[in-house]
Amino acid sequence: MDNLVLLRRQMVEIGRRLQQQNLIVAAEGNLSVRLGGRAFLVTPSGVGKGALRVQDLLEIDSAGRCAQGRPSSEWPLHRCIYESRPDVKAICHAHPPWATAFAAAGKDLDGSLLTETAAILRSVPVCARSEPGTEAAAASVLPYILDHDAVLLGSHGAVTVGPDLPTAFALLETVERLAQVTLLTALARGEGGALPPGVR
Ligand SMILES: [Zn+2]
Repeated sequence: MDNLVLLRRQMVEIGRRLQQQNLIVAAEGNLSVRLGGRAFLVTPSGVGKGALRVQDLLEIDSAGRCAQGRPSSEWPLHRCIYESRPDVKAICHAHPPWATAFAAAGKDLDGSLLTETAAILRSVPVCARSEPGTEAAAASVLPYILDHDAVLLGSHGAVTVGPDLPTAFALLETVERLAQVTLLTALARGEGGALPPGVR
């Protein structure tokens, strides 16, 4: 089995897990993998990621051109990240509800809260709110993604990157768990609805 077939199967499986784990609903979210050179594999626009088929996935160039189908409307965000981070081979974007609550509140996540996240996620910064799918949205991420593998998109969701798609997806899961535990920690400390120390 060649590598492209494996990557397609991997993307379908992770799309299914995004939906099963409530990290997206409806046709939200998008995934991509750098195939080499200026070629990429990306999820199509307007298709629920829980029901993706391998033949639905699109091979595109960096301008978003492909022979058939319409790539994710948020491709400019992916392209901007690939251009600025040559080490990144895969990107996962979703709207996980706990993390998106921080994105909507304009609050960074503090990875030092938990021992298991302290070493891999010192912080998850939130970038400025902008219209999804626009060049402005892509540009808003740039100052943060250069030295963070996970970023919250203002009033929108989260994006994570990695050397492969399973790694980027695992980081998204970790960000969502960190956001959930951060809010529960505030309650456990008796802080009511207040945000915990370290979260600005
Ligand atoms: Zn989105």
